[in-house]
Amino acid sequence: MRGTRTRARFSRSRRTTLRLFAALLIAATIFGLSAIQLSGRMTLGNDAVPEAAAAAIEPPAGIEPAPDVPTSIASPAVPGPEREPAAQPPPDASPKPRPPIPPPPAADSGKEDARKLIALTFDDGPDGKYTPQVLDILKERGAKGTFFLVGPQVSKYPDTAKRILDEGHSIGNHSWSHKDLKTMTPEQIADEVDRTQQEIADATGYTPHLMRAPYGNISPNLLDALRERDMAHVYWTIDTRDWAGTSVADMRKNVSAHAQPGSILLMHSFGGRKNALDNTLALLPQIIDDLSNEGFAFVTVDELIESGQTRKSVIKH
Ligand SMILES: [Zn+2]
Repeated sequence: MRGTRTRARFSRSRRTTLRLFAALLIAATIFGLSAIQLSGRMTLGNDAVPEAAAAAIEPPAGIEPAPDVPTSIASPAVPGPEREPAAQPPPDASPKPRPPIPPPPAADSGKEDARKLIALTFDDGPDGKYTPQVLDILKERGAKGTFFLVGPQVSKYPDTAKRILDEGHSIGNHSWSHKDLKTMTPEQIADEVDRTQQEIADATGYTPHLMRAPYGNISPNLLDALRERDMAHVYWTIDTRDWAGTSVADMRKNVSAHAQPGSILLMHSFGGRKNALDNTLALLPQIIDDLSNEGFAFVTVDELIESGQTRKSVIKH
């Protein structure tokens, strides 16, 4: 009797254990299925959001995306229009390895190209007041510049024009009348260019092959005229606006912020608002020292073109 009760109790407890085990098994199966379904939903959810966000952060055509930001995998941190609350990535999602950073381009061994070159240009001279002082500053600091001259000033100050060349600088043509060449006929343009070329040649014995149109206003007619004469038009990349009386501090900041190899600075050595060019004289030694300390060398526009450092859009042939 006692043995039977014991067997019965044992068999009851075994059945209970088995039932419990079965229940656990079922529970585990259900939980497992839910987990798979849940993870499936999470995967779908994750795919859906990045696709929309990836479209939102697609860079405009022509702009190279940064190499370390894969646009196909959108980060939840990237704001997109009408975004769902940020979905957490699945716990096993490890960050994609970044592509290796490309090595910096090898420095050119050529001496000329290894230097950071910059061109200082001075328009509207020569004159008897500012141009000689600009020349003094350049001489003192061993910097070279390019002077775009207007014909009537050359006829008034031929010796200053000659001094520019004698001290190793370059001369370009800046028209005769300093009017807008864009509105002129081919005949008028030819007259503006040729009269000034002749005046410069008479004063210095040198015939320029560079031209800067007043206000940088070029036209197809002007470019045709320059091509016929084997000349090139020269823009600038940094406008100091010295003629307007811009403060020395503002001009210095502007130059420091934008100077890079191949830069062409626009300044003046005659004209402008009353006494405005006093600021140019104060600025010049400062920017030469600033940029020299950054390793820049000051060359003529001709040398800059030869070096290949100048931007193609700045020189029009
Ligand atoms: Zn000018």
